[in-house]
Amino acid sequence: MRVLERLDEIRERLAGISDPVRLLQEIFAYAPFGLQVYRADGHCLLTNKAFRDLFGSEPPPEYNILHDDIAARMGMLGLVQRAFAGETVQTPTFWYDPRELQQVHVTEGRRVSISITLLPLFGGSGAVEHVALVFKDQTEETLAREQLEAALRARQDFLSIAGHELKTPLTSVMLNLHAMDVALQARLNIDDDRVLVRWQALGRELRRLDRLVEQLLDISRITAGKMPLIPERVDLGELVREVVDRFWSPSMEPGIIDVKQTGPVEGFWDRWRLDQILTNLLSNAIKYGQGRPISVEFGPVGPEDGSDVSIAVRDRGIGMSPDVLGRIFDRFERAVTDREYGGFGLGLWIARQVVQAMDGTITAESEPGRGSTFTVRLPRGARPPAV
Ligand code: ADP
Repeated sequence: MRVLERLDEIRERLAGISDPVRLLQEIFAYAPFGLQVYRADGHCLLTNKAFRDLFGSEPPPEYNILHDDIAARMGMLGLVQRAFAGETVQTPTFWYDPRELQQVHVTEGRRVSISITLLPLFGGSGAVEHVALVFKDQTEETLAREQLEAALRARQDFLSIAGHELKTPLTSVMLNLHAMDVALQARLNIDDDRVLVRWQALGRELRRLDRLVEQLLDISRITAGKMPLIPERVDLGELVREVVDRFWSPSMEPGIIDVKQTGPVEGFWDRWRLDQILTNLLSNAIKYGQGRPISVEFGPVGPEDGSDVSIAVRDRGIGMSPDVLGRIFDRFERAVTDREYGGFGLGLWIARQVVQAMDGTITAESEPGRGSTFTVRLPRGARPPAV
């Protein structure tokens, strides 16, 4: 309706011009966007200069848009037909090279990325007499987007390949080191002390490397949307104690990690990923905890009394200022640059992605010099379907 009103208005104004057809002709010829008019039988009647500049040629007389095989291949022919049946349509952006047409032989042309608006023009009887096409040249934008996507894919592939290539020899070195560790310790006498110290340092550095490689692999899995979660029945109490025990070393004061369970905490979660989150939080609490007591408190929470579980890991160490706190879940964000606190600023980003994939939340509270509390809240999850 709106268009008709405007058409009337345009007609009225054009009536004041001595040669309105001439004016439209000029506009058509010099418009900065490609224009084309088709007859109802699909044959081209007119093209303008911008059209010829865009495509590098114009369609030969035998060309029929209703049989355009490129449009057919791109899934656009249906839209073209709808325009010829009387509907105004807009195509998505697609690549088009007239030289690729099978229906007719075109030797001159360019490959362009375009979107088209198709406007049916009705005759006195109400039937479609012509269809006008307006072309938007998107070549530059599409090329830029495709280049960016290709660069992101290349980075993604590199991360994934490098991660896997590093991981294989590293796993083998670590396994051998562990086997030799056992053998060496059994044969050690007091003079071998220095060897042992170096041996242990080697183990530590390798574990560091292994952690980085694992984190790089996780980044590429998460950004590629390929991080499968495999839920199974987990007793969180058992898992927490298992993780805490793993951190225990003879140099630690007994009872420095206090574990408190406030209720039953069984659920269906991906055990390995849950272990990874807890390990990350606890290793941070130890790393930034200045040797002061750490507490891990967990139990049921939620409106239906225990529909969720929450796990809070609290340290009394260096803490963080509010502006730092706002950034720690971002990738490669580290508040401390000291090598004493080795790390890459990836652990919490990964932890947050995993928790979110489990429909949970992870939050942090902290005060400089007084310590930090990280709280993970997770729904108990549903029993996975039997396979
Ligand atoms: P990193 O491997 O560097 O520790 P994380 O992603 O686990 O990486 O943590 C990001 C940053 O958040 C750390 O570099 C540190 O600055 C800060 N941070 C994390 N946990 C704590 C904590 N318990 N106390 C103080 N700062 C912390």
